[in-house]
Amino acid sequence: MSGIGPDVDVVVIGAGFAGLYALYKLREAGLSVRAFERGEGVGGTWYWNRYPGARVDIQSVEYMFTKFPDLEQEWDWTELMPAQAEIERYLNWVTDRLDLRDQITFDTAVLSATYDDVTATWRVETDAGEQVVARFVVAATGCLSAPIEPAIAGLHSFTGDSLYTNRFPKDGYDFTGKRVAVIGTGSSGVQSIPVIAEQAAELVVLQRSAAYTLPSPNRPLGPNELDELKSQYADIRAAQWASPVGTARFGAVAFLGRRTLTNILEASWDERIAKLDELGFAGCFAWADVFLDVEANEAATRLYAEAIKRVVTDPRTAEDLVPHYPFACKRIIIDEGYFETFNRDNVRLVNLRKHPIESVVPSGVQLEDELLELDVIVYATGFDAMTGSLSRIDIRGRGGVSLREVWAESPQAYLGLGVAGFPNLFTVTGPGSPSVLTNMVTSIEHHVEWITDCIGHLRDHGHCTIEADPDAQDEWAEYVHTFAGPIQVHPSCTSWYLGANVPGKTRYYMPYAGGLTRYMARCADVVENGYAGFDLV
Ligand code: NAP
Repeated sequence: MSGIGPDVDVVVIGAGFAGLYALYKLREAGLSVRAFERGEGVGGTWYWNRYPGARVDIQSVEYMFTKFPDLEQEWDWTELMPAQAEIERYLNWVTDRLDLRDQITFDTAVLSATYDDVTATWRVETDAGEQVVARFVVAATGCLSAPIEPAIAGLHSFTGDSLYTNRFPKDGYDFTGKRVAVIGTGSSGVQSIPVIAEQAAELVVLQRSAAYTLPSPNRPLGPNELDELKSQYADIRAAQWASPVGTARFGAVAFLGRRTLTNILEASWDERIAKLDELGFAGCFAWADVFLDVEANEAATRLYAEAIKRVVTDPRTAEDLVPHYPFACKRIIIDEGYFETFNRDNVRLVNLRKHPIESVVPSGVQLEDELLELDVIVYATGFDAMTGSLSRIDIRGRGGVSLREVWAESPQAYLGLGVAGFPNLFTVTGPGSPSVLTNMVTSIEHHVEWITDCIGHLRDHGHCTIEADPDAQDEWAEYVHTFAGPIQVHPSCTSWYLGANVPGKTRYYMPYAGGLTRYMARCADVVENGYAGFDLV
């Protein structure tokens, strides 16, 4: 390294899957590293989102680090798709086994990171008042870690308990005997609603947009099943890394792996119903054209309405539960007994499109036509995704330019890894990377290894900085957009992929939908061609 001595080679922001792996790999590469983590413990997403029912939608044996053949044999998953507590335990175990804890400063948020053109270093400042000068910053800040507070009048006037799924109390919460409202029916709401319903005296679900959700195939792993899976880990890993989504076992969306799908638009109503009989909810979407064609997608939604009617006994509730936007423009949800929950006597659905919220008041929620008196309000209202976690840090690149301002116009990063004007800042699973459209763990591993190799290359070749070239970044952004089809960018879609869930955020499809394998090949090409599209100085 050249330049005026920094305190450390690398500052890593965050200690979830990405931060932990970055710490490990960078340390292995002989670099000095400090990590800062806002939470009191490791886990990132799996530290904060500890709401009842929180569970991953990937199978456990694939939702773990894939590059530790010895370590992975020692960890015993208990379920096909693990719940939050088990994933958090796994990450703590890995942290200790890899001896990473001492390098992490917990309970400390990074407030700013400022690039110094003269010394080619970053000055990182924390909310504990500490300043660390580093050559590189690796933002392992997660795609879904900046909670948004819904724009509802009177939010803070409520005198009962206000809970947020994405920063749920560490010791849990007992809903027994309480009158509860859940606002939001994305993954977090849909997963928590059945569990809360079992405890609460009364539960009102306040739904603005209905959800596309599929029943989870989760179950405990059988007595010898995990041993059998462990004996196949090498093959499972190979299949994962050959898969365009970083997972070969698919979980709730197994039909996506089937190759002989027919077109829904060429099927009669009876044939469509037959698919429903065969596959249940998944049968609505097990068609070749549903992900590509808006009309086919609408046909699938009509079948979905039929599937809901088969479960939900009250016809009006069943009708209100049907979405009015394309399937798969938002993340597909998996649930455990979501629709069945609406048959319970203590549960009621309020369609906010028909009965809008006027305000939150001290005693509950005032709808336009009714006062809901409540003890607890649970907000499952989502995140400022993909860019929010970094936009909330005051990051200043070359010439004092603010990343927040740059991304407010267009949230771009070359390969999702680096941003023009911000030398030596790496974004793990940044906008323009496959990230949220894949198994996050495999994407994270790929990014961290690419970044570690890159820093090693700079060191070995006497380079001081690497920075995305603005033209290469523009070209990448255009290329990324070629994969966003009519379903993803449909005008009725208010997905966080588009930033459309955040008032005022630029509507811009952020993830790369071209698949992890194609993306990895492109990243490898870039390296082979001397880090094409990056300027190395
Ligand atoms: P989300 O998908 O963005 O859902 C937020 C919900 O809150 C939506 O139903 C939204 O309605 C509603 N909402 C927001 N503001 C509102 C307001 N002012 N009034 C009424 N309703 C409002 O957020 P999320 O459920 O936390 O999930 C985010 C992502 O996290 C998921 O897509 C997934 O990738 C990840 N996640 C994964 C899992 C898993 O299974 N592995 C579990 C939880 C989360 P509109 O749609 O109308 O805006």
